[in-house]
Amino acid sequence: MARIVVTGGAGFLGSHLCDRLLERGDEVVCLDNLVTGRTANIEHLFGRDGFQFVEQDVSNFIWVPGPVDAVMHLASPASPIDFARIPIQIMKVGSLGTHNCLGLAKAKGATFHLNSTSEVYGDPEVHPQPESYWGNVNPIGPRSMYDEAKRFAEALTISYQRHHDLDVRIVRTFNTYGPRMRPDDGRVVSNFITQALKGEPLTMYGDGSQTRSFCYVDDQVAGQLALLDSDLTSPCNIGNDGEFTMLELAEHVIELTNSDVPIEFLPLPTDDPTRRRPDLTLARTRLGWEPSVALRDGLARTVEHFARELGL
Ligand code: UDP
Repeated sequence: MARIVVTGGAGFLGSHLCDRLLERGDEVVCLDNLVTGRTANIEHLFGRDGFQFVEQDVSNFIWVPGPVDAVMHLASPASPIDFARIPIQIMKVGSLGTHNCLGLAKAKGATFHLNSTSEVYGDPEVHPQPESYWGNVNPIGPRSMYDEAKRFAEALTISYQRHHDLDVRIVRTFNTYGPRMRPDDGRVVSNFITQALKGEPLTMYGDGSQTRSFCYVDDQVAGQLALLDSDLTSPCNIGNDGEFTMLELAEHVIELTNSDVPIEFLPLPTDDPTRRRPDLTLARTRLGWEPSVALRDGLARTVEHFARELGL
């Protein structure tokens, strides 16, 4: 049993992580400034033994009284619509926020676990992407505040490991989806499902031939915990290596929602990655973990969630 700080713990991924940690008997201190996180994601945990929520912006100085065994730093807006809306906050939480969390971990003698991203690979020229690939990122493009903040966060994390001998984990999270995504978070899974459920056209950016590899949230959380429990201090991809075009995703969503909506083709955003798929060799061999939820099954559960959330 451990006492674990989860930043961004009221967010989509963070709240599922809090659930799993509590289920396995850990104590959780959840920090979130609720910019994109929602108390609705954690209200079922209020009053539960071992769970504490503190509304706090980790870009400012943080302190958690008492012992801490691990600091899991997930806090960050992560959707392309947030990139245009709150770019400075995204840079701050990735840089200053990571520094504060590293400082907390160092002071407590705790493991630091960074939630990094497949975005460190940018628009990749190597496919699929192994951890050894350095990436192809535009440093001043419309996604740069997220990509470069996460790249800085990885560099800072590895510097703490080398310079202070801090025990660290770096997970590169690939597109993750599932219940508790915000219906208006602007990402493709939430957009397509909510549009189909409301009988609106699906907004396809570009010709729909770009690919992504979608990981169901339960698999993502299991992978992250396998990494936390391992002794792997170098970056590790966690995702699902099934690769789909956005047109294929749209077909699945239309079928699963029994809808008959058309597809509306819109311009592709600047720097939108053409294709993305994790090379999971490291996770499979070192963590003994691999994803188990097929896209169709995960989408079906996500459709149920959005139908409830939209009151349909
Ligand atoms: N996308 C789309 N329609 C939407 C939202 C996104 O076609 O309504 C596309 C987007 O251009 C990208 C892919 O879906 O090629 C995945 O987008 P998302 O924002 O979910 O994730 P990311 O681009 O960060 O991987």
